[in-house]
Amino acid sequence: MTDNLVIIAGGGIGGLTTALTLNQIGVRCIVFEAARDMRPLGVGINLQPNAVRELYDLGITAKDLDRVGLPAQEWALVGLNGNDIYSEPRGLLAGYDWPQYAVHRGRFHMLLYERVIAAIGSDAVRLGSRITGYRKNSEAGVCACIEHASGSTSQMHGALLIGADGIHSAVRAQMHPAQPPIHWGGAIMWRGTTWAKPIRTGASFVGLGTHRHRIVFYPISQADPQTGLALVNWIAEVTVDNAEGWKQLGWFRPVSVDDFVHHFENWTWDWLDVPALLRGADRVFENAMIDRDPVPTWQDGPVALLGDAAHAMYPTGSNGASQAIVDARVLGAAMLRAGTTQRALSDYDSKLCGPISQLVLRNRNAGPFGLLNLVDARCSGTFDNIDDVIAPEERTQFMAGYKAAAGLAIDNLNKAPPTIPKGAQISTLQPI
Ligand SMILES: Cc1cc2nc3c(=O)[nH]c(=O)nc-3n(C[C@H](O)[C@H](O)[C@H](O)COP(=O)(O)OP(=O)(O)OC[C@H]3O[C@@H](n4cnc5c(N)ncnc54)[C@H](O)[C@@H]3O)c2cc1C
Repeated sequence: MTDNLVIIAGGGIGGLTTALTLNQIGVRCIVFEAARDMRPLGVGINLQPNAVRELYDLGITAKDLDRVGLPAQEWALVGLNGNDIYSEPRGLLAGYDWPQYAVHRGRFHMLLYERVIAAIGSDAVRLGSRITGYRKNSEAGVCACIEHASGSTSQMHGALLIGADGIHSAVRAQMHPAQPPIHWGGAIMWRGTTWAKPIRTGASFVGLGTHRHRIVFYPISQADPQTGLALVNWIAEVTVDNAEGWKQLGWFRPVSVDDFVHHFENWTWDWLDVPALLRGADRVFENAMIDRDPVPTWQDGPVALLGDAAHAMYPTGSNGASQAIVDARVLGAAMLRAGTTQRALSDYDSKLCGPISQLVLRNRNAGPFGLLNLVDARCSGTFDNIDDVIAPEERTQFMAGYKAAAGLAIDNLNKAPPTIPKGAQISTLQPI
């Protein structure tokens, strides 16, 4: 029976949250994941309150999230002189009804994977299975083409196909064959984690430097009560000339700290030693900050894009994973209204594609780090008192504008009804 089956390409954070959501509302689904095995890959990511809300509604609790990260308390930008440019409380402290979590991406991903297997069954995620393309059926539904790790190929028929296959999405490539290549603005990031003393609140996200040369760091574990050390995620970043274009660096190219530490050699203050932080990591990875130009639609009949496949974005707003989670929930809500139909996909597409494409462009323009551009433009990054450079109201207004665009305006989020009403099942609702 494949009548109302939903096929999901990609078992990342977006694909797995989609599977959990569809299972919650009573829609049958199957995930095809290209990787041969699930491993806890990646370093730190942030789950914004709008995403944590959805995770709670999926039955993932604060206790679960505490096992893979910790609630963030503060977001701060600091100039090269060590002086604050901007800081604000985050999560519950900021007045949201849900916390923001800073988590280990791989451990959070494994948590979702375990939940999918427990809820749907061991067959729910087919590993070593890459979706290479799709054929729309003339009547209804879609046929997904799959290439298996063994080299064999197969096909799967379903009502809908959701392309949650990441920034290099094969589904998107077929949907938008004329899309331009990956976009790279010249920023290179080196990422790692180091056991270090967390600073400020003990759960602070700190962005330090200028818009073309900075380090971002935040703890992704509670401090060990014995040692006082927490696992601190860091991203060291410089922007270079991008004339030669992006060199297929992939997500995880291992490099040595010696390759890049010279960019940060003098970055020491009495409260922070950046070279020591960088040198303290066991493993370090290099990746280019890349995204994709927005496309006019995420839908092609019975096929829709979700997560990075739909809106790969610069991590400047820390919202790539959060938006993938929200996408999954908005898609589930659309199916509650219209069933596993193309109409549900149109509803999802018309709600999200326009505004989230704008967010992609906003993040390209530095997202909330845009304040650093302002500081640079007005005083080349040199200041004694930030109030003389950007008035407090202007700083607050700038951040409020970003939050509204990212669906993080506090009142709006707190007042919004649940995306998926508790207990709602597709079979109990009349498709419109
Ligand atoms: C291995 C890995 C490590 C990452 N580490 C970080 C990190 O440290 N920090 C950070 O900010 N972001 C990281 N990201 C990106 C981040 O997870 C995403 O931006 C965000 O979570 C949105 O998730 P997504 O599910 O849309 O895409 P992704 O997380 O990219 O997941 C896509 C999934 O689809 C699979 N896939 C790809 N093509 C196909 C296909 N044709 N058929 C079937 N399956 C396919 C991939 O193997 C992957 O599991 C990482 C992504 C990956 C894949």
